[in-house]
Amino acid sequence: MHLDRISAVDGLVHAFLAVDADRALGQARAVDAKVVAGERVGPLAGVPVAVKDLFCYQCLPTTAGSRILEGWKPPYDATVVERLVASGLVVLGKTNLDEFAMGSSTETSAFGPTHNPWDLDRIPGGSGGGSAAALAAFETPLAIGTDTGGSIRQPAAVTGTVGTKPTYGSVSRYGVIAMASSLDVPGPCARTVLDAALLHRTMGGHDPRDSTSIPAPLPDVVAAARKADVTGLRIGVVTELGGEGYASGVERRFTETVDLLASLGAEIVEVSCPHFDDALAAYYLIMPAEVSSNLARYDGMRYGLRVGDDGTASTEQVMRASRAAGFGDEAKRRIIIGTYALSAGYYDAYYGSAQKVRTLIARDFRAAFAQCDVLVSPSSPTTAFRLGERTADPLAMYKSDLCTIPANLAGIAAASFPNGVADEDGLPTGFQVMAPALADDRCYLVGAALE
Ligand code: GLN
Repeated sequence: MHLDRISAVDGLVHAFLAVDADRALGQARAVDAKVVAGERVGPLAGVPVAVKDLFCYQCLPTTAGSRILEGWKPPYDATVVERLVASGLVVLGKTNLDEFAMGSSTETSAFGPTHNPWDLDRIPGGSGGGSAAALAAFETPLAIGTDTGGSIRQPAAVTGTVGTKPTYGSVSRYGVIAMASSLDVPGPCARTVLDAALLHRTMGGHDPRDSTSIPAPLPDVVAAARKADVTGLRIGVVTELGGEGYASGVERRFTETVDLLASLGAEIVEVSCPHFDDALAAYYLIMPAEVSSNLARYDGMRYGLRVGDDGTASTEQVMRASRAAGFGDEAKRRIIIGTYALSAGYYDAYYGSAQKVRTLIARDFRAAFAQCDVLVSPSSPTTAFRLGERTADPLAMYKSDLCTIPANLAGIAAASFPNGVADEDGLPTGFQVMAPALADDRCYLVGAALE
């Protein structure tokens, strides 16, 4: 059914970069055979899943949305993909994303943008717009993404779906193409809170192959999604994440939902996180610094695109030509900014200061969580904007992640839940819930209570 749906609508939505119909049917039949034989299978066995094209999966090319990796087939599977397949999930294919997950709209993908199923002239968010759009268009019931600064939550918000950024280190990055290693975390995308929790449980947990993986059990996110009770929960509304620059429809739905939580028995408090105002600036120094280092491996020598290798060209000439042709403008912009921020004369002024701000943001969270169990905010300041509207203005694009970036800088848990549509345009809005590291279950508790 999902393969038929993809054939019917993906020409319009362009959520997928590759679909693996035959293998998907084979995986589904294998689960079916087990069930018929009376074998026990897990709760997600036989359920289709779409995989952001940033995860290595041997069966299909992994492009990261970039020409520089076009056609590259990884020699191994990401831990997360391995776990999904081992649990019997059926991999439908790979979904579109901004190049190397850099963007908020999928418009930096080298393979063309994804369209928001709610309005095909609008962006589906990014970088994981393909996964979110595939869910919203009913092309898949489950999908996975990665969140470095909001790439799971912002697309979820603007497509009316559920997306979780798990605690940093609680879901393996092994086999996930790196963007900014100290911020990246894979997470689940779904249409319901329980679906997301089941997927979260299946993909997460300690992995000895990831050196930053936390050797601790995941909190019971599935139990929390089933409990759906906020009685007595202390919920903090973050003063800094609202007000000027936020669409009125986004604010209205947000305020109503906070009132609803109060009526369900939660205790609402207002908390201030004064350093959040500097989060965007710190992120846009730390992230490109890590990008400039991580993307150095795409040199036209080891794998991927190679340009200008005519037998006489020097190594440097081939590297230069390959990188010039293989990287898009946004990747180049970030490599240049990151290299500059890390250069000897500027390191302290830029990268060093940004790291200090990061520490202050983590302290803001610690102080806030001393007063409440979870923090809430809108997931995105606006609803889906029009394709092309922000491509000429990187700063406007970067502001799409105003609400989501603080959680990445502190490594804590956060999720976005559907929160109705804005009055002015009828487009989806998202409700963000943030919880301390390894208290991801609290996000699901709130999300499920609202569903
Ligand atoms: N939109 C943000 C950026 O461009 C976040 C990306 C992400 O989370 N991968 O960096």
